[in-house]
Amino acid sequence: MSIASKLNSIKATLPENVTLVAVSKTKPVADLMEAYEAGQRIFGENKIQEMTDKWEQMPKDIQWHMIGHVQTNKVKFMAPFVSLIHGVDSLKLLQEINKQAAKNNRVIDCLLQMHIAEEETKFGLDENELNTLLASTEFKEMKNIRILGLMGMATFTENQNQIKKEFIYLKYIFDSLRDRDAQQCISTISTISMGMSGDYQLAIACGSTMVRIGSSIFGGR
Ligand SMILES: *Cc1c(COP(=O)(O)O)cnc(C)c1O
Repeated sequence: MSIASKLNSIKATLPENVTLVAVSKTKPVADLMEAYEAGQRIFGENKIQEMTDKWEQMPKDIQWHMIGHVQTNKVKFMAPFVSLIHGVDSLKLLQEINKQAAKNNRVIDCLLQMHIAEEETKFGLDENELNTLLASTEFKEMKNIRILGLMGMATFTENQNQIKKEFIYLKYIFDSLRDRDAQQCISTISTISMGMSGDYQLAIACGSTMVRIGSSIFGGR
């Protein structure tokens, strides 16, 4: 199957309120252009250098999402153009994004990454760290970032019950964050980024509004 037909068959199964991020890391620009020509405008990359190279070469109506772990010293390279940063998991990183966004006269949208998996190696905040971050004066003073919601990655396992449990937990944290946000009349919290090629249907059943799908569109890496 071609990239365009794989993309279209996945899109046909997504509910209207679910956004598809086509994860194109390691894939050549020609492959991304095939998806672009089939109508895809949101691409996800996990390395800043690679994303910047592709941004330079490709049409400017593409929204670039950074889905990988972000090193503070590299934020400046994507600050002029990045559309959404999924993997924000520290106040220090958020402060750097805020600073670089200000230099570019823009507001950068971010998701806070929560640690929901069993593995120790996956990045992300726990509930306490999330609350501490959101309550901090430093956070409240930042004018050039906007938090749109949360992102999480489930444990790498065949066990569907385990994955489901983790997605439900992320949705629960998301709902309480959104309620708090609504009470303060801020209402920017709208996005819960969860689900990849292997588990996106389950993620959607658990309330995901944004899925990050790579290999099912572009093939294995
Ligand atoms: C690579 C990657 C994906 C996509 O994974 P697939 O299994 O290829 O769909 C999603 N999210 C993150 C954070 C990734 O690094």
